[in-house]
Amino acid sequence: MTTDVMTRPAVLILLGPPGAGKGTQARMLEESFGLVQLSTGDLLRAAVAAGTEAGKAAKSVMESGGLVSDEIVIAILRDRLAEPDCAKGVILDGFPRTAVQAEALDALLSETGQKINAAISLEVDDDAMVTRVAGRYTCAGCGEGYHDTFKQPQKAGTCDKCGSTEMKRRADDNAETVASRLAAYHEQTAPLITYYGDKGVLQKIDAMGQIDEVANGLAAIVKTAAP
Ligand code: AMP
Repeated sequence: MTTDVMTRPAVLILLGPPGAGKGTQARMLEESFGLVQLSTGDLLRAAVAAGTEAGKAAKSVMESGGLVSDEIVIAILRDRLAEPDCAKGVILDGFPRTAVQAEALDALLSETGQKINAAISLEVDDDAMVTRVAGRYTCAGCGEGYHDTFKQPQKAGTCDKCGSTEMKRRADDNAETVASRLAAYHEQTAPLITYYGDKGVLQKIDAMGQIDEVANGLAAIVKTAAP
């Protein structure tokens, strides 16, 4: 079967430093547009928890706030992209993070005749990021994200989505590690904004506003870029 341009699954990339809201927004887009969120951070945390070889190699790097090797991350992403649900279209959250990963993604997509519909840069102030990251937590049951200040569940300690009362915080969401993660973003990931600008797929969005305002802006971009 040949795949024409209109039926190719959408590929959207969310770029932005830690705390910009990539995960929150990706989950909202997943619900609104029936796309699949692919978070390399989540995939790596699952590998660490499962004690795989990749997980063992990634653990200390993640704890320090550095970037896991391109080789490991690309292999994990490649395997996940090959799963059948990705045929619905994907939102890449936290990948690519280096020029090598961006080129590997281009090569992977060209194998299946896919293209990047949009790389959306969530534009935020660095100063606000430490507060944002330090206050966040997720439901252990369904992964819904919350924040001490910006997004509390309706009933304290109980997930609005699934009712679980077990919440968890990431080990790397502390001020010291966030500083390293921000530095890694500026050194290795921010140059991808130019990379995707040159390809003509870059979109920028002000991500300092309320979660719903940013979501509305993103939805408008997605409707145009991946109709
Ligand atoms: P995140 O959940 O996206 O904030 O990622 C958490 C951590 O996982 C990062 O600080 C990195 O150590 C690692 N990580 C996630 N995605 C990547 C990637 N694309 N390349 C390298 N390291 C990654």
